[in-house]
Amino acid sequence: MKRYLFLLLLFCSASFVFAQNFEQFFENKTVRIEYKHIGNSQMEKIEVENYRVGGIWEGTVTHLVEPKRMGGLQFEVFDALSGQLIYSRSYDCLFNEYRTTERGEKEVGTFEECVRFPLPKQMVKYKFTSYDRHNVPTELFQGVFDPQSTAYEPMRKEYKVKNLHIGAKVNDALDILFIPDGYAKSDKKKMQEDFKKFTSYIMNCSPYKEMADHVNIRAIEAYSKESGITNPNQNVYKNTLLNCSYNVIDLDRYLMCLQVWKMHAIADDAPYDFIVLICNSDKYGGGGIYNFYCTVNNVGDYSDYVIVHEMGHLIGGLADEYYTSEVSVRDFYPEGIEPVEPNLTTLVDFDSKWKNMLDADTPIPTPATKENKDKLGVYEGGGYVAEGVYRPMMDCTMHKIMYNRFCPVCLKALQEAIMFYSK
Ligand SMILES: [Zn+2]
Repeated sequence: MKRYLFLLLLFCSASFVFAQNFEQFFENKTVRIEYKHIGNSQMEKIEVENYRVGGIWEGTVTHLVEPKRMGGLQFEVFDALSGQLIYSRSYDCLFNEYRTTERGEKEVGTFEECVRFPLPKQMVKYKFTSYDRHNVPTELFQGVFDPQSTAYEPMRKEYKVKNLHIGAKVNDALDILFIPDGYAKSDKKKMQEDFKKFTSYIMNCSPYKEMADHVNIRAIEAYSKESGITNPNQNVYKNTLLNCSYNVIDLDRYLMCLQVWKMHAIADDAPYDFIVLICNSDKYGGGGIYNFYCTVNNVGDYSDYVIVHEMGHLIGGLADEYYTSEVSVRDFYPEGIEPVEPNLTTLVDFDSKWKNMLDADTPIPTPATKENKDKLGVYEGGGYVAEGVYRPMMDCTMHKIMYNRFCPVCLKALQEAIMFYSK
């Protein structure tokens, strides 16, 4: 009992220190840096274009520095005077996928990206670092932001926001924001129905269902000039709010948005930790990138599965557990390197993954037999690779088209992410 009390006190005092840090270093406003990520498989660089300041700070005020890096990019903010690290986030981006494709080997691509952090009270230094699949860091950019002298544009309010599920206050919840693309004014009714439908898909899926008090879902009501979504393979081109498109980085069902700055400018109107783009199209598709954004098409038998699967990438940093696919990214999980994603292992550092969740008698690797159908184990095949990469269960929502069937390892990663944003 005493031990628990001690742990509780320790936890309270740690939260107190974190909360104090927020007051000490930050105002209750948000800074957004808009930058370009430029390069190919051989080189990459970042060019910062604009700073935007406005709104309130909607993220967590207790977890300012993340406990461990989860994505291929890391953004860090340091107090300029003391050099203390006061904010950090890791994430992934479309550029990192582009550079592993055939086109990305030769052609230089330019991709819009954004990072957000609370408005600092004093001058800060910030740094972007890129990690390759061998976990080798490269510093991409160092900059200075001084709230007294750096020129910035204000964020603007333009759109109506609809509350769909409110579990807690903004700083105490994982805030999900839907932005619609490809809905014309005449699609108003459909848009409202889709917002409700996708909210129920999320809230009826574990772990969101059990953690409903820690989740908020809102939507921006915004219309496109034309109805539908661009699909270059069929010569369909639509003028839409965010110009989302299929066949991004040459993968037919990969439905993504390249106008990331505009996406965040629209999102400024609502509190958000994560953006989900709801695309008005009956063609199966979607995409999700850790701490970046995700997309889903609105029609079809599988859209309940697609949204929670893509949100698995977006929020939990989860990898695809399938290994037979048309995915055009290559060499994603090199030999001898433990992946950063929580639901894959190469057994190089399995202790850091789900080893402590296994029954003591579980063979490693675990044979994919009928008897093991529902057993947590270490099954070969995952992350687009058939050999040398292992996943936790034979089946999971990150493995095949199955709604609400996250394996225990994926569930745990999502629960931790929800708690990270709701304290
Ligand atoms: Zn899983």
